[in-house]
Parts: sequence; structure tokens; C-alpha cells
Amino acid sequence: MKVAVVGSGQLARMMALSAWPMGIQFSYLVQQGDSLDPITSLGDVIYDEDYPEAEALYKALGEPDVITVEKEAVDTDRLKALQAFCPVYPDPKMLETCRHRGLEKSWVNEQGVDVAPYRRTGNRQEILAALEEIGYPAILKTCTGGYDGYGQWRIKSADDAAALEEDVCNLDCVLEGFVTFKREVSMIAVRNAEGESRFYPLTENLHRDGTLLTSKAPAPNLTAELQQQAEEIANKLLAASNYVGILAIEFFVTDLDGKEHLVVNEMAPRVHNSGHWTQLGCISSQFNNHVRAITGLPLGNTQAMKITGMVNLLGVEMDNSVLVNSDQQLHGYGKSLRPGRKMGHINLVADSYEDLDAQINATLAKVYPEG
Ligand code: ATP
Ligand code: MG
Repeated sequence: MKVAVVGSGQLARMMALSAWPMGIQFSYLVQQGDSLDPITSLGDVIYDEDYPEAEALYKALGEPDVITVEKEAVDTDRLKALQAFCPVYPDPKMLETCRHRGLEKSWVNEQGVDVAPYRRTGNRQEILAALEEIGYPAILKTCTGGYDGYGQWRIKSADDAAALEEDVCNLDCVLEGFVTFKREVSMIAVRNAEGESRFYPLTENLHRDGTLLTSKAPAPNLTAELQQQAEEIANKLLAASNYVGILAIEFFVTDLDGKEHLVVNEMAPRVHNSGHWTQLGCISSQFNNHVRAITGLPLGNTQAMKITGMVNLLGVEMDNSVLVNSDQQLHGYGKSLRPGRKMGHINLVADSYEDLDAQINATLAKVYPEG
């Protein structure tokens, strides 16, 4: 069995590493300038520019059984052309929806699922009109290209709005109302081509400056009701898109008449940073289950075997000295150091949520001594 992945980052790396023991081979479709460090020695690398014709590209990729992606910013026309030769999962149409915040929100809404109040904008006038309706505080987000908090501007007051640069105002954006959330959680869901789905327990996520810093799973104080609410939403979105592979859904947990209520922040049509804990906490990690789903292997168990945590290594050198005890697992992505860059992560297991918090805090203190 052979899988071709579009992209060469840590998600492609971890997909390959998790499926390697199952005897599955990998190739990677990249573009000039992409960093290849994370996938060094993990399979053939093919440059998109070298094969303008889809059939030649398919052959160069090693005639894979299936093609998948590790990011949503991909050339979907190219993927649609490749569909003539093998399945592409998830479907390029879903990638187009997910990579555009405006399309994504309207599509999620159409499925009867709540998102934050928003308006599409493309100039200062439209932003001011949207602020009139939605109020302060609000967040302006570019429809495309944003990630890890980039391409976002927080607007707390009319002064903030006035201070927005003209170039920013003219971008294709959504203006989103600020959601007062109790916490943020995410659902990692998997579905195969036969329509069978499985769900990991909800993960609680903490972000710093718009980037994920820690995850806890199953989310502390997770009720069966909240898990069910998330699974119902995930089911709707998976079924409506005839999805195959891992879909990650980020939620805000809000309070609605004293009950926990989920509002979708965004979706990722791929394996996701908030599911990295599954490498240690589950029989089948998100990476393993993604490959199982797209290759038609039976889906793996998604239950959490233990209380599990994850700490991201952001802009710090990745080495063993950051581990605080023997219940921790270190993952490095082989990348060169840059400020804020995702360099690796630590997964850890705990006996209780107190133990989990203590380990996460000790790890954060060791990794980020400056706070
Ligand atoms: P990532 O790639 O890490 O998921 P991103 O750039 O796609 O980030 P978002 O997920 O939209 O960005 O936002 C990042 C974080 O900013 C959210 O996880 C949340 O903490 C905060 N945030 C974004 N939108 C809102 C909102 N409408 N209300 C409150 N907080 C928000
Ligand atoms: Mg996000």
C-alpha cells in the first residue's frame, strides 16, 4: 500500500511514522521552497513544478493507492485532476470549504450548527457596518491564509477599528464577534469510505497568542452530554461532506441557560495539533486512524487509555532535557529553530487531573523558564 501526502511538515512526518509499522509506504508532493526537514528519509519527494501533467505527476508519486493532505492551503485544482487516477481524501471540495473562513462558517451554519456571529467584509465601510451589528470586542480574520493566530486583528474599540491599516481593511475577511467562552475544546473525528465513524474524547486546549500551547484529554470534567453534543455535530459535518479521514473541529464551550453549549470556531480537514496526545493516550493515534481510514483498513480504537496531556515546544530547542519524568514522551519535528516555531511536543500520562496539571506546569516551567 502506498500513500502520497501533499506537504512535508510535521503532520506528514507523524502520519508516515505511525503507518510505517503497518508496512505502508509514503511519497510527498511539495513545492520549491518547502522545508523538507520533517520528512527526511521517510519517502520520495516530488516537486509539483516538475510535472505539469496530472498523469505524469501520479506516476512520479509512485502510483499511490490514495492521496491525502497535511494542510488545507493546497492547489485543489491539481488534486481534482489527480482524482482521475486514485481517490483523494478528504475530498478537494471540502478542502476548499475549510480553507476559506467565510465559506467554512456559512457551510457549518447550513448544517444547522452554531458558529460565532460574523459578517464578510472587504473594506473599511463594511467593517464599520459589521461592528455596528456585532459590537465590540470583535476579531477581524482573513478568509484565507491565516493560521496560528496570524491574519487576525482584535478590535476592542472604535479606536482600534480606526487604527486598522487600509491594506488590512481591503482584505477578504470575516468580522467575528468575540465569544465569551468557558473553555476551548476540540473533537478529533474519523470516518472511512463505508461511512463508519469514530470519535476521540474531547480535548481541552489552551492557546497562547493564538497558538495552541497545551491540551488535556479527556477534557477535565467532561460530561457525557458534552461529548454527545460534539459527536452529533461531528457526525453531521462528516456525513454532509461524505468525509474520509480525520476531521478536527475546534469549539468554544459557552454557557447557554446554565448548560454547556458548543459553538464551532473552525474545522481542520486533517490531523490536528490538538490530537497529538492520541499518540500516547490511545491504541490508534489520530495519525494511525487517518491512514487506516483513507486506505480502507479497519478503524482503530479511539478511547483514551489514561489521562493524557500535551505541551507544545514553541520556538525552543528540542532536547531530552525538557522532560520532567519517565511518564513523558518527546516528539521532535527535525526543523531548524525560529522564534515561535512549532519544534516538537511532549505527551504525558497522569494518574489524576491534579497530577496532570502538576506535570503540565512543571513541564511549562522547564521549557519556558522566562514564563
Ligand atoms: P490555529 O491554526 O492555531 O487553529 P488560527 O489562526 O486558525 O489558529 P483561530 O482558531 O481562529 O485561529 O483563533 C485562534 C485562537 O484565538 C482561538 O483558539 C481562540 O483562543 C481565539 N479566538 C479566535 N476567534 C475567537 C472569537 N471569535 N472569540 C473568542 N476567541 C477567539
Ligand atoms: Mg484555530
